[in-house]
Amino acid sequence: MILGRAGLASAAAIVLGGAVAWAAALPESYRIALENAGHVRYTPYDPDARKSTDGLTVFDFRYADHYTYTFETEMVGDSIDVRIHPEIHAEVTLQHTISLPRNCREGTAWCMRLRSHELDHVAISTDERPRLIFRWLVEHLDPIEHKAAAGTRIGGDWVRKAIDAEVATRHQRVLALIQRNYDLLDSVSVHGLRPIADRRAFFEDLYSLETLRGMHWAEAAEIADLLESEEYRQARRWCAE
Ligand SMILES: [Zn+2]
Repeated sequence: MILGRAGLASAAAIVLGGAVAWAAALPESYRIALENAGHVRYTPYDPDARKSTDGLTVFDFRYADHYTYTFETEMVGDSIDVRIHPEIHAEVTLQHTISLPRNCREGTAWCMRLRSHELDHVAISTDERPRLIFRWLVEHLDPIEHKAAAGTRIGGDWVRKAIDAEVATRHQRVLALIQRNYDLLDSVSVHGLRPIADRRAFFEDLYSLETLRGMHWAEAAEIADLLESEEYRQARRWCAE
C-alpha cells in the first residue's frame, strides 16, 4: 500500500500497531544541508527505559546582543520618568537535539518516518524568518519608558537591566511563535503519522504576514515593514517535497 503523491518514489506506508504510518525519506542532500544549518545533534535513548519509541526535537534558539544607549530622566510628581534610547545589535545561534530510540535503524521505514518528522521540526526553527523577526524586534525598539520611585539611583546598571528585560521579552515571544509552529506540525501530521497535504504551503505559511495577523500576534504591527521587505521574501525556508 502506497500513500502519498505520485512521483515520490521513496514514499512508503507501513502498518504499525494498527495505525497507518507515513514514511518518506527526505532527499539526502536536503537532509545534510538542514542538519548542518540547524546544528543538529542526535542523541539515542533506550526505549525500554523510557517506555516510549517516540522521537523528540529540542531547539535552542539563543542570542548574543550588544548595544549602546542614551537615557533621560525627569521628576514627575513623586516619581522619576525614565526614557531610554537603545541601539541594539543581536546575533542568533541555533542548535537542535533530536532524540531517537536506540533501535531506530537506518533504512527501516519506521525509523525513516521518525527521523523525517523530527527534521520537519528542525525545518520550522531553522527557517530564517524567525531569526529576522527577532533581530528586527530588538534592533527597531521604540524608546523604553519606565517610572521609578523618587530617590532611585538611575545609572548604567539600572538602564541595562531595563534594556535586557525588553530584549528577553521579545526573545520569549519568538520562542513561543516557533513552539506554536512545532505544535501545529504535530497536529497537522498527527506526530508524523500522516503526510502533510501541501508541504510547500504549510512551511511557507508558518511565518507569513497573513498567519501572524490572523493569530493576532502581538508584534505583527511592529514588524509590518520587515514582513513586506525583499529580505523577508528571500529568507531561506526549509521544505523538502
Ligand atoms: Zn513532533
